[in-house]
Amino acid sequence: MSNPKRLPLAHTPTPIVPLTRLASKFGELFAGADIWVKRDDMTGGPEAGNKIRKLEYLFAEALARGSDTVVTCGGIQSNHARATAVVGAQLGLRAVLLLRTTSTDLDTKSAPLTGNVLCDRMVDADIQLITPAQYRERSALMSDVAARLAREGRAPYVIPEGGSNGLGAFGYVRAMEEVRKQIDLGLAGGKPFDILVHACGSGGTAAGVALGAARFDIASEVWPIAVSDDRAYFETVVERIVGEARAIDPTLPLPAPMQIVDACKGPAYGVANDEQKRVLVDAARATGLLFDPVYTGKAFYGLTEAAKRGELRGKRVLFLHTGGLPGLIAQGEELREALG
Ligand SMILES: *Cc1c(COP(=O)(O)O)cnc(C)c1O
Repeated sequence: MSNPKRLPLAHTPTPIVPLTRLASKFGELFAGADIWVKRDDMTGGPEAGNKIRKLEYLFAEALARGSDTVVTCGGIQSNHARATAVVGAQLGLRAVLLLRTTSTDLDTKSAPLTGNVLCDRMVDADIQLITPAQYRERSALMSDVAARLAREGRAPYVIPEGGSNGLGAFGYVRAMEEVRKQIDLGLAGGKPFDILVHACGSGGTAAGVALGAARFDIASEVWPIAVSDDRAYFETVVERIVGEARAIDPTLPLPAPMQIVDACKGPAYGVANDEQKRVLVDAARATGLLFDPVYTGKAFYGLTEAAKRGELRGKRVLFLHTGGLPGLIAQGEELREALG
């Protein structure tokens, strides 16, 4: 099979904008670098961010199979789970969300009503809180839930963590085709980039971006900035997803060269250190773009670290803003000091 079916859900093309006022907060740090942002935080309203591009393909398959329920998983403040729940509500499919919590209270109703969880509850997603130990067995757990739903007469469709499989990755192959059209129109400086930088959490965006960057000549290198786990883990995950995507569409080329960065993930998944928080606030004040402390803030912090090492001088850089605003809003108190 090639060219998998797509359900148009995202507002595209998203804009590409130059970052011209970074010096107001970062001084000479980015001098000599030509930095642009692809605004995938604008792919929609409450369903916005990078996940909806993958969901265009995953929901297309769910509908083609006659499913009435989608089952997925993530951290308690998962942007992916929220996007899945909101799109499910738009299309009339029930969303079952297995959400990981470190709280010992696994009663759904006790989860703080903020950020993504609030959005999930607004659209009446079926939230089941699970422990970190259970989360490690998430694929088996989702299969069990799907089997139980099927016995109850429902037609479930399982979406993996982050929507990250070969099919979901086509969302970012297509996003790179969109960037190619923008470059051809003379936007974004009218020529390809040297480096594409983005936050990496479950690997699907990295796989799709690297395949699409190669197919459509978008960037010589892709730098996924890991927000958890390490480089070896993501090399394995991304290679698997790339393999799945190329099995669906054998005309896809080998992916663009990738430098997975695992030195910028901070203390833990979802937790930013003081310096990362400062960069997040400075970036907002210098650009008007709001990054989040879980994903995009760490990726932008990675960009500042590369700039400190002089690696961006003379380079054209495309920073992919993957969304995550509800995750920022859920961490307001954590940012109190950085806000001054
Ligand atoms: C999920 C997510 C990412 C990471 O994308 P993956 O495809 O899971 O690696 C980056 N940024 C935001 C805001 C996300 O929600």
